[in-house]
Amino acid sequence: MKLYKIKKSKIDNKGRGLYATKDIQEGTKIINYTGKIITNKQVDDSDKYDNNKPIYLFTLNKRYTLDGDFSWNTAGLINHSCDPNSQYDGKGLKIWITAIKNIEKGEEFTCDYGFGFDKDYKQFPCKCGSKNCCGYIVREESRWRIHKKFAMRNKKNLVNNS
Ligand SMILES: [Zn+2]
Repeated sequence: MKLYKIKKSKIDNKGRGLYATKDIQEGTKIINYTGKIITNKQVDDSDKYDNNKPIYLFTLNKRYTLDGDFSWNTAGLINHSCDPNSQYDGKGLKIWITAIKNIEKGEEFTCDYGFGFDKDYKQFPCKCGSKNCCGYIVREESRWRIHKKFAMRNKKNLVNNS
């Protein structure tokens, strides 16, 4: 029995997501993230891999990247959350989605997409609805910078209003 089923997503209201078909324990491998292995040089050289779709690209090591932008990559349907219950787990040239919490039957699987912080982060708003959501899809280490940015702006507004 598969651990997941495809359903309309609660996070991405235009898209689909993957949902747990039974209770899952932390550490369980849920699904293989599949795609095409390309060289990092191909990523650098081709316009196909520009900043508009970093979502599906995983740097595997110094030489190779996995491009998961294929309709048969079911794991590509998993949505981002700032408070995820799963993570991308790379081993060699393989990537698994692994549970990082105990997940209940019927919950939507979510991962941290892990984008770096750059000037384009506003392209990817986040609607995950978790308490610590910073409003944009960026990786956890980068989130403080966004919080800081908003804090600065609020401070400025306060100063301007006084
Ligand atoms: Zn979020």
